[in-house]
Amino acid sequence: MTVGQSAGWIAVAGLGPGDEGLVTPEVTAALAEATDVIGYIPYVARIAPRTGLALHASDNRVELDRAAHALSLAAAGGRVVVVSSGDPGVFAMASAVFEALEAGPVEWRALDIRVLPGITAMLAASARAGAPLGHDFCAINLSDNLKPWALIERRLRLAAEADFAMAFYNPRSKARPEGFGRVLEILRETCGDERLILFARAVATAQEQLRIVTLGEAVLEMADMRTMVIVGSSQTRLIARPGAPILYTPRSAP
Ligand code: SAH
Repeated sequence: MTVGQSAGWIAVAGLGPGDEGLVTPEVTAALAEATDVIGYIPYVARIAPRTGLALHASDNRVELDRAAHALSLAAAGGRVVVVSSGDPGVFAMASAVFEALEAGPVEWRALDIRVLPGITAMLAASARAGAPLGHDFCAINLSDNLKPWALIERRLRLAAEADFAMAFYNPRSKARPEGFGRVLEILRETCGDERLILFARAVATAQEQLRIVTLGEAVLEMADMRTMVIVGSSQTRLIARPGAPILYTPRSAP
């Protein structure tokens, strides 16, 4: 894409986990050229208002409408940035934009569309704690808004049996306060009480809080919607030292 060209474009951008220092220069440059920014209310709130920039904030249940709105603005000549937290391709707006593109008018397919990566919450949380994702791992969205709960349980059990470290997004919400308790039960059954689990809340913000416990000590209330949960593999361990310990998974399997 040639920045500054008159034709519209759309960039689906990741704002990283919170800290401005973790926004990529590529995303900052796209925002500087934008005529429109579209996204979920708290993410749009991170964008500084300026003359010539329209901010369109919407609720988080309207992803496909928001994506179609973004595409229609770009089709009309707008320079549109759709914002997600973290990375836009991880449980976020990039797939929603492509779903809307696939279902929408064929002219939309000629649009200049880019996905601009960001630092996803699991990588920011992992870096803060040490390197718990240093060997094979998987990422699971624990929200059952867009998939059946039975599928979440199946993937959880199979991942635990395969001895992956596991990164959980959307562990718990006001609408689903108890499901995470069931997740902890399944994990205790499959991984045992001694397995390490990290609760990383509001990483890279002023409210950041990290807590590392065993599955035997873990309780439902340790997670909320701003928490990234990482469960170690059987090899994940702690290095004790003055201050916070380091949580890491060695590179080699036994
Ligand atoms: N696209 C985002 C994820 C969206 S799903 C990304 O790549 O990070 C939203 C979930 O991400 C939250 O429920 C939480 O589990 C996690 N999350 C997002 N930002 C976070 C942060 N700063 N600290 C901890 N977890 C975060």
